[in-house]
Amino acid sequence: MTKFKGVKMIEGKYSNVMRGAYWYTQCKPYFRWGRDPCKDKSCYNNCVVMCERSYEFKVPGFVLHYHGCNLNCRFCWAYLVREKKSIIKTPEEVVKNLLCKLNTLYKDQFIMKAKINPFSIGTIRLTGNEPTLQWPHLMEFLRILDDQTQISNISKDLVNIQPPIPQFLPNVLHRLKVLIQTNGVEIGRDNSPINLDDLKEIRNIQVYFEVSFKGVNQDQFTWLADSSPELFEYQCTGFEKLWKIRNDHIHVIAELGINHCDNVKNYPKLGVKIISENGATLDFTKYSQSFKQKVLKYCSLNLEANEFQEFRGINRKRARLVIETYSKETGIVKKRCLPSEF
Ligand code: SF4
Repeated sequence: MTKFKGVKMIEGKYSNVMRGAYWYTQCKPYFRWGRDPCKDKSCYNNCVVMCERSYEFKVPGFVLHYHGCNLNCRFCWAYLVREKKSIIKTPEEVVKNLLCKLNTLYKDQFIMKAKINPFSIGTIRLTGNEPTLQWPHLMEFLRILDDQTQISNISKDLVNIQPPIPQFLPNVLHRLKVLIQTNGVEIGRDNSPINLDDLKEIRNIQVYFEVSFKGVNQDQFTWLADSSPELFEYQCTGFEKLWKIRNDHIHVIAELGINHCDNVKNYPKLGVKIISENGATLDFTKYSQSFKQKVLKYCSLNLEANEFQEFRGINRKRARLVIETYSKETGIVKKRCLPSEF
């Protein structure tokens, strides 16, 4: 723990999952895979801010990958990330990374040509592994984002950054929406150390919690998350607790988060299904009682519309256990087979 202007700064663990400014729609005429103006900088490997086009909000945004998880999903997109060394940062240092990234993008001639400016960036996505395992750090980070004066003070410390940070950038950071993607387990577990009342302190920014369900009943969860069944109940309880503290600044969404879309990225003639231990297609309308009472009673479950992807970070041996791939043309079905292996 370090100190910043009298405030305790609790360190958080992050992963460095760097790739180009992934704003491909805008960058496409110039760079097929997006542009990364930070790649040659000495701080590159110690930065925790990645760029993306936010699927949820359909605008360019930033992503921070927390490190460490309390589940062991078979199709974990970040399986390899979980094994990598983490980067330790205080909330203040994360804010510095964000300001530095904003500043670099703002000054980059190619990003400018792609008609992206700081005001077209809309979100910061905090994702997994599991962000809530680092609750004190996460809360301190949100408190800073919520307070424009604190962000401005931090930006004044960045005297060595060239070109200097313009005065309006702290305000740009302050107005970004924050999306926290969580499995909800740590929030809902018995004797959870997380006090959701902390969130009542957030008065200026908009924070969205997306609870990512790994199935809709204990059996599906146990198989897909490769974790004990009671953790499914914690997911449901975690969602309900979050739902009950919603206000004008805190928003809550339920999502089936297992990469389950039938359509496959880069393989238009193939489809996939998620299968059980005995090879049967999983039915995601087989809701358990607790799922109905603690989730569906309040809202409907979002089904992921993003195409199925074989992410680079998966453990292929584990991932193929839950996947069946089929040809949309011939109807041929191969169980325990990833699309690239079809
Ligand atoms: S909750 Fe997310 S990060 Fe954790 S194991 Fe599952 S997919 Fe991976």
